Amino acid sequence: MLTQAPKGTNDVLPDRVHIWQYLEDEIRKICKEYNYKEIRTPVFEHTELFERGVGDTTDVVEKEMYTFNDKGGRSITLRPEGTASASRSYIENGLFNTAQPSKLFYLIRCYRYEKNQAGRYREFNQFGAEVIGSQSPSIDAELMSLAMLLYERVGLKNLKLNINSIGCPKCRKEYNEKLKEFLMPNYDKLCDTCKTRFNKNPMRIIDCKSSVCKEIVKDAPVLLDCICDECHDHFEKVKSLLDGMGIKYYIDPYIVRGLDYYTKTVFEIIADNKNSNSTICGGGRYDGLVEQLGHKSTPASGFALGMERLILTMEEQGVPFPEDNKPDLFIASIGDNASLFAQSLVYNLRKDGVIAENDHLGRSVKAQMKYADKIGAKYTMVIGDSEIENGKISVKNMQNGETKEINLTKDEIAKVIKGE
Ligand code: ATP
Ligand code: MG
Repeated sequence: MLTQAPKGTNDVLPDRVHIWQYLEDEIRKICKEYNYKEIRTPVFEHTELFERGVGDTTDVVEKEMYTFNDKGGRSITLRPEGTASASRSYIENGLFNTAQPSKLFYLIRCYRYEKNQAGRYREFNQFGAEVIGSQSPSIDAELMSLAMLLYERVGLKNLKLNINSIGCPKCRKEYNEKLKEFLMPNYDKLCDTCKTRFNKNPMRIIDCKSSVCKEIVKDAPVLLDCICDECHDHFEKVKSLLDGMGIKYYIDPYIVRGLDYYTKTVFEIIADNKNSNSTICGGGRYDGLVEQLGHKSTPASGFALGMERLILTMEEQGVPFPEDNKPDLFIASIGDNASLFAQSLVYNLRKDGVIAENDHLGRSVKAQMKYADKIGAKYTMVIGDSEIENGKISVKNMQNGETKEINLTKDEIAKVIKGE
């Protein structure tokens, strides 16, 4: 146990962390272009926030939360997602008094007690974007375009953007009655969870993973056919905005986010993965959430995408990752005096932005050069007492093996390395 991390967690090791940094950089870049500002909220919140803000009939709240009492006896939960926290912060900090809408993004770790499998972990990372304070379909379309453009930029292919409308509480009420009528003859065959859903939130039966329930709902009426004029109009606008941006989408009437405060547009981005879970992004409008949390009714829309699933999908598709940075220069040294000299030279080169490295294990020159090779140094040099005395040094280009004799000064070395 001592040297084994808990199930469902992952270490990102130094030889892979550049992949994460690259993706995080791309995310920060695109969010800047879209004018979304980062929001950082706590890793834990009051349990009640997620019960209200994610919904107590969802899998997340029913089965997956890491909840505990702190030493003061408060019920605390490690965040399973970011939307509820962003909405809480919007209300608590009066973001509604700033320029509206509030366009927010976050890069966070989330915690869900799930069965561990490829692309499904107990600690995982999400990139999420939320826009609070606008009911416009243009926000829904903008959010989808952001996610799709990000995927395109990092080189993913064959992604499907599936969209749907789940209407508003008004039209959904009528639909739920229709759906219950349809399901009634098969009520006894539904799984236990769906039996509970039948009264609490029948729309979620559409989303059940059990094969029996799937078969039962196969010919069920779909909400999209029953939505009211206002919701229909909103959906039509989202579609024409996507058309206008040239973003391809499919209508999937079976996507549901079955809570009262999820409204109108919902969407998912699916990758054609063989070995891992294929939903890489999920989002939609949640016009009822802010009100549910006790503030005045405020429309909002957002999405969250899983970073691990993004990386897995890139790997499965063979999308190349950028290479990690390699040191520009390794300075080997012979003897104590040269070692001192090397350390100060490395320091001064680093000040100038050169990625420089020297020996820290008192190795032989041969072993130092082996190390330089291992870390992929682009240039190497060996400093001994005579180099220091003569003020000359030979710099070796490790890619083509060429050497160059220069003055042993920081500026001349930097010039060679920077190719000037
Ligand atoms: P799923 O149907 O796969 O359980 P979800 O509906 O629970 O997904 P959301 O709550 O919409 O997922 O979260 C948004 C994204 O976060 C998902 O599309 C996925 O990429 C990622 N995600 C969700 N749960 C996990 C997890 N346990 N491990 C890794 N990534 C996850
Ligand atoms: Mg889930």
